[in-house]
Amino acid sequence: MERAMSNARANGEGVFARMVFRDALEAGGCLVCRAVADMDQRSIYSFLYEGIEAPSVLARFLAGGGFCPRHFRQVAELGVNRWSVGCVETAILCRHMLPRATREAAELGRSRETIRLLSAGGGGADTPLFPGRDCMFCKESAEQEARFVALLETATEDEALSSAIANGGLCLPHGYAALKHWRGRRRVEWLRAQIEAQSERLAKDLQEYLRKYDERFRREPFGGEIDVVERAVGFLAGTKSNGLKQAAVRHTRGRRGTTMAEKP
Ligand SMILES: [Zn+2]
Ligand SMILES: [Zn+2]
Repeated sequence: MERAMSNARANGEGVFARMVFRDALEAGGCLVCRAVADMDQRSIYSFLYEGIEAPSVLARFLAGGGFCPRHFRQVAELGVNRWSVGCVETAILCRHMLPRATREAAELGRSRETIRLLSAGGGGADTPLFPGRDCMFCKESAEQEARFVALLETATEDEALSSAIANGGLCLPHGYAALKHWRGRRRVEWLRAQIEAQSERLAKDLQEYLRKYDERFRREPFGGEIDVVERAVGFLAGTKSNGLKQAAVRHTRGRRGTTMAEKP
């Protein structure tokens, strides 16, 4: 019975992951990077929309030092978003964070001895808690990432997804993670071959791109290698997350206030 339930849960997760990967396909770039960024965005929306009204969620948020700088910037750049949240919610959160962060800075600034005492008695680290040393969104994001890497293995049965991977739809960091965690030997071998082929294609395009910068060949027009720098960086470092803004749904003015984009 328990086994059947866990199988059903795994199947449900697999179906959901394929849906998220299919959305990620449209945005282009690494499927896992996009999927994680999408979930990240949803999770922040949901927190701003209703999480901050739940005392236990707000307490967990503050116990982690609030948003880390990366997630803070993400919130500040929300712009038009699907649930019409933004400025007012951010103001509420800043009102909670500001006195705590200032108090912490004052305490840490007192003396080295005090810092040592604080470290021993308090959070166990001499790194300030604010902003977001233990950001709950970073924690969640890391869990999502591991889950999506694992779920991508069976999602490769979907032809559109496997062909996306064969065409550069998986960055190198997530490729490594997949090689490490996927279970099927045949799939791992297939993935290894895709990563190698992608790397060779990029190297060839880079060579051609640089050749055309040579004085002697400058008159030659660029071909398919024109965007190779962006592709090479995306492959080596992962896909930038903000491509998901296009997935945001147009909205009307919300119940609590204005979005960042509407700020006067
Ligand atoms: Zn990636
Ligand atoms: Zn974070």
